[in-house]
Amino acid sequence: MTTEVYDLVGIGFGPSNLALAVAVDEHNRRHPQRALRTLFCERQARFGWHRGMLIPDATMQVSFLKDLVTMRDPASDFSFLCYLRERDRLVDFINHKTMFPLRTEFHDYFEWAAARVADQVRYGVEVISVRPVEVDGEVAHLDVVARPAGTDAVTTFRTRNLAVATGLSPVLPAEAEITDRVWHNIELMHRVGDLKGAGRVLVVGAGQSGAETVAELHSALPDAQVTAVFAKYGYTPADDSPFANRIFDPAAVDDFHGASAEVKAMLMGYHRATNYSVVDLDLIEELYRREYREKVAGRRRLDIRPASRLQFVRETDEAVYAAVEHLPSGAVETLRCDAVVYATGYRPGDVFSLLGRAGALVERDAAGLPVVERDHRARTADAVSAGIYLQGGTEHSHGLTSTLLSNTAVRVGEILQSLLTGSRPQRTPVRAVGAHA
Ligand SMILES: Cc1cc2nc3c(=O)[nH]c(=O)nc-3n(C[C@H](O)[C@H](O)[C@H](O)COP(=O)(O)OP(=O)(O)OC[C@H]3O[C@@H](n4cnc5c(N)ncnc54)[C@H](O)[C@@H]3O)c2cc1C
Repeated sequence: MTTEVYDLVGIGFGPSNLALAVAVDEHNRRHPQRALRTLFCERQARFGWHRGMLIPDATMQVSFLKDLVTMRDPASDFSFLCYLRERDRLVDFINHKTMFPLRTEFHDYFEWAAARVADQVRYGVEVISVRPVEVDGEVAHLDVVARPAGTDAVTTFRTRNLAVATGLSPVLPAEAEITDRVWHNIELMHRVGDLKGAGRVLVVGAGQSGAETVAELHSALPDAQVTAVFAKYGYTPADDSPFANRIFDPAAVDDFHGASAEVKAMLMGYHRATNYSVVDLDLIEELYRREYREKVAGRRRLDIRPASRLQFVRETDEAVYAAVEHLPSGAVETLRCDAVVYATGYRPGDVFSLLGRAGALVERDAAGLPVVERDHRARTADAVSAGIYLQGGTEHSHGLTSTLLSNTAVRVGEILQSLLTGSRPQRTPVRAVGAHA
């Protein structure tokens, strides 16, 4: 147990908390007399942003201007443009005439920024729970309990505020069993090397990750059949048209947060196609081009099976057999595969199970989700002056940008502002919200 009390401890160090660390770093340099003491715990051994999906050709799905800082402060030297200048690629990038850099390049940008705020981060440390520290009926501090990788020991960090940004976890069908031959696309770049010589690989799913996985396997395995199975009749293009794109604006977060549950549901329904189960049009067209080229050449490797579903998989010592049903006809074909890849999406982790006892301090809505104020702070009783800020897992309160990069720079500015100004009045005793549940 360390006796030091931090102003802020962050759980997770992906782009969301990295952007917050950058905002803190800039604040501390500008106002050393009001400097914040922060610590971010990251379970990975080093910075990594979905490394398993760092497909060489994949590009970003947001403009590079939605980097860690620009939407909050275009003059910040943590911008993607400043990174390019340091890498001596600024002019080349401008000549490239794109708003959408390679994902690998943006990863390098994140790593560059992460290295500059490394003093705020501890890697290889997994947070396992958070405990309220109650003194005279008030919870002013939280103890963040963490386990350094490869040990059973635990370390505790005491803090006045918490920023939870643990990101998304892969989603699999209930019946799916992960093995060396059956896995989620999040592992793609770690696994593709093992598939050299594969005869057939099968990918389930019609979203961006599914289409990217199909394209990458088709490129990387020149002798393999690549079968794509999904229920739609065709991949649906992502709506990134300018008016629809406003759903990612900072002002849209204001609108969404203030709206009724009915209006929230309506807006989500209208604009899901900006983000969910959709694919960049360029990629759809590229896959179509490849399929058509193969039809002309008479050697079919890309095997797109729409209106179909994977009924079951059965694995033997040599292969995995996938039963694929064509939904309109009901015909079932069993395919011998070297791998079955589930590109079946992601969802935010359960913040309450991560927070442990501290989770009982947070008010829940009718659906059991955390009530989150506009400044991204979870609502707690007045007797709780410690702040719990949520980045991610707040789509129900803050809208579609909750799990995306679009609004990260602005969001962390709002959190920093709240940290610097927001201390809660203390009126009701903490037991009223069940701190010891
Ligand atoms: C392949 C892929 C591509 C994407 N591309 C885009 C894109 O182009 N544009 C866009 O807007 N969005 C994109 N997204 C959405 C994605 O959610 C955001 O890009 C971004 O990752 C959100 O950042 P984050 O920091 O909130 O979460 P993450 O990046 O997921 O980071 C969370 C971090 O928390 C760590 N962690 C989790 N639990 C613990 C714990 N208990 N203790 C310590 N550490 C923990 C994890 O190791 C991880 O490093 C993409 C998502 C995926 C999967």
